[in-house]
Amino acid sequence: MEFESELFRLRIGHGYDVHRFCEGRPLILGGVSIPSDRGLLGHSDADVLLHALTDSLLGAAGLRDIGFYFPDSSDKYENADSGELLVTSLKMINEQGFDVISADVTIIAETPKLSPHIGKIRTSLSSLLSVGEDRVNVKATTEEGLGFTGARLGIAAHAVSLLYKR
Ligand code: MG
Repeated sequence: MEFESELFRLRIGHGYDVHRFCEGRPLILGGVSIPSDRGLLGHSDADVLLHALTDSLLGAAGLRDIGFYFPDSSDKYENADSGELLVTSLKMINEQGFDVISADVTIIAETPKLSPHIGKIRTSLSSLLSVGEDRVNVKATTEEGLGFTGARLGIAAHAVSLLYKR
């Protein structure tokens, strides 16, 4: 049936990432600079949210992970803008015949409080993915003081993306 064959063009992907807090670096989430007394440690700009989102896109397209294409062993990606890595990955999935339908992301952080920044992050993701804001959603939660995010050791992020194969 035609309806069924259309459904087979849909591909879902999941991404997950963690970065540890450190002092003396800016906190960048989803391409947005967030006021914070601590930032995240990483070879690139350590944008944990964009890394999870990028992995969800690559995963949905059946490609390898972000570390495979942008290895942290390479000087080329030292302090890299993760927005550029996402846009490069987006081009890769477009070349494979995929378009983004939607993405939904969750940031897990005990600190700082993210609710004032959700709108800005959503706008940033929508712009990086070149899709309307109605197709991108951003959520934040804490882990109630439990685990490494609860202990304020770092931030985790999950992402799911839905792609359509042309
Ligand atoms: Mg990462």
